[in-house]
Amino acid sequence: MNETCDILISGGGIAGLTAAATFAASGFSVICVDPAAPVTTRDDTGADLRSTAFLQPAKSLLEDAGLWTRLAPHAAPLQIMRIIDAGGELPEPRVVREFNATEISELPFGWNLPNWLLRREMLARIDALANADFRPGVGTTSLFTRTGEARVTLSDGARVRCKLVLACDGRNSPMRQAAGINVRTTGYGQKALAFSVTHDHPHENVSTEIHRSGGPFTLVPLPDHDGRPSSAIVWMETGANTDRLAALDEAAFETEMNIRSCGVLGGLRLASRRSLWPIISQRADRLTGERIALMAEAAHVVPPIGAQGLNMSLADLRTLLDLALDSPDSLGDQSMLDAYDKARHNDIKLRVSGIDLLNRASMIEARPLRDLRATGLNALYSLPQVRRMLMQMGLGVR
Ligand SMILES: Cc1cc2nc3c(=O)[nH]c(=O)nc-3n(C[C@H](O)[C@H](O)[C@H](O)COP(=O)(O)OP(=O)(O)OC[C@H]3O[C@@H](n4cnc5c(N)ncnc54)[C@H](O)[C@@H]3O)c2cc1C
Repeated sequence: MNETCDILISGGGIAGLTAAATFAASGFSVICVDPAAPVTTRDDTGADLRSTAFLQPAKSLLEDAGLWTRLAPHAAPLQIMRIIDAGGELPEPRVVREFNATEISELPFGWNLPNWLLRREMLARIDALANADFRPGVGTTSLFTRTGEARVTLSDGARVRCKLVLACDGRNSPMRQAAGINVRTTGYGQKALAFSVTHDHPHENVSTEIHRSGGPFTLVPLPDHDGRPSSAIVWMETGANTDRLAALDEAAFETEMNIRSCGVLGGLRLASRRSLWPIISQRADRLTGERIALMAEAAHVVPPIGAQGLNMSLADLRTLLDLALDSPDSLGDQSMLDAYDKARHNDIKLRVSGIDLLNRASMIEARPLRDLRATGLNALYSLPQVRRMLMQMGLGVR
C-alpha cells in the first residue's frame, strides 16, 4: 500500500506524540508509528513510571498543540528548586539552597506530570485531529530519500511518501542509523531508579535534588495520591547499587530510600513499582540528513538532571515548527534542515556538556572533592546575578 503525508514521525514516545499533535494542530498531515503500544494506565506492568517536568517555555508549545488544557488539571507546579549537599560524613543536609521562580518570573519554573498520563492525554488529542494518524504496533523499517521526498517502509508492508521524516525513535534511533548519522556516547556506569512515593509532609511545590555520591536523588512534586502528598523520585547510583536496590523487598528498600532522602519530606512510602533506566550522554554528529530531521533522544540524551531531556526536545520541536510555518512549501528541504541544524546545534552541545559536568560532580566519592562541591554550590548561590543567570539558563530562556 502506498500512502502520502507531509510528515512521517518515527516513534511515539512522549517526544513523537507531542510532535504529532503539534504539527497536526498547525495543519500538516502527519503519520506517527511506533512498534510498541503506548501504556496509558499507572498500574500496568509496562507503565512508564517516570514523570516529566515541563519547563516554562514548553507551555506555549503545548498550548499551540491543544495539549495544555488537557494536561493542566493534572500538573503539579514547580515553584522552588531546592539543592541539598549531603556529602559529609553522615547522610544529612549540610548545605541547603533554594532557587525561587519569583526571582525571575511570575510563573513557576515548570509543571510536573506522570509519563503514563501524558501518553493518555496526548493520544486523546491526536485522536481528535483529523490530519493525525497514530499507528501503534507498526515501526519504520527502511528509508529511501531523494531531493524532493522521502520514502519510508513500515513493518506492516506499507510505504509512505513524505516531505519530512522526523526521527523521534529514541537513543538507538533506527531512522538515524538508516540516514547514516553517527553518535558520540558517554557511559557513566550509572542507572536511575524511577518510582513514586507518598510522604508525611506536603511538598509545597518544591522540587528537591540531594547530592551525596553516585548521582542525585531528586524528588519532584506530583498531585496528591490516595489523599496523601506525593512526589516522583529519580535516584541515580552506580549500576551495581541500583541493581541491588531494585532487588530489595519493599520494606528494606523503603529503609534505604528514607536514609538517602535525609528526611526532607518526612517518612517516604513507595507508591508504585520501581523502574530502572541506564544513564548515558549522547549527541548525534548531525541533526539532519536528506529529508530527515532528528529530535529528542534520537538527537541527544542527557542524564536526568534539571529536567533538561524532554525540554531540549521541545526546543527542537519549536524550532522545526517555526521553520515549517514560516515556509510551508520548503518543508523538509535542504534550506529548512540547514536552518534547523544551525539553530539547535550550539544549545544542544552546551547542554549535553553542562549536564555531563553536573552529573560527574554529583557522582563524586572522595570526601575532599565532595567538600569542594558544597563550597562551589554556596559560592554560586551567594551571587544574585549568577543565581538568576543559572535559573534562566536552566529554563532555556537565556
Ligand atoms: C529517569 C528519567 C527521568 C527523566 N525525567 C525528565 C524530566 O523530568 N524532564 C525532562 O524534560 N526529561 C526527563 N527525562 C528525559 C525524558 O524522559 C526523555 O527525554 C524522553 O522521554 C525521551 O523521549 P523520546 O520520545 O525521545 O524517546 P523514547 O521515550 O525512547 O521513545 C522512542 C520511541 O521510539 C520507538 N521506536 C523504536 N524503534 C522504532 C521504529 N523502528 N519505528 C518507530 N518507532 C520506533 C520506541 O518504541 C519508543 O516508543 C528523564 C529521563 C529519565 C531516564
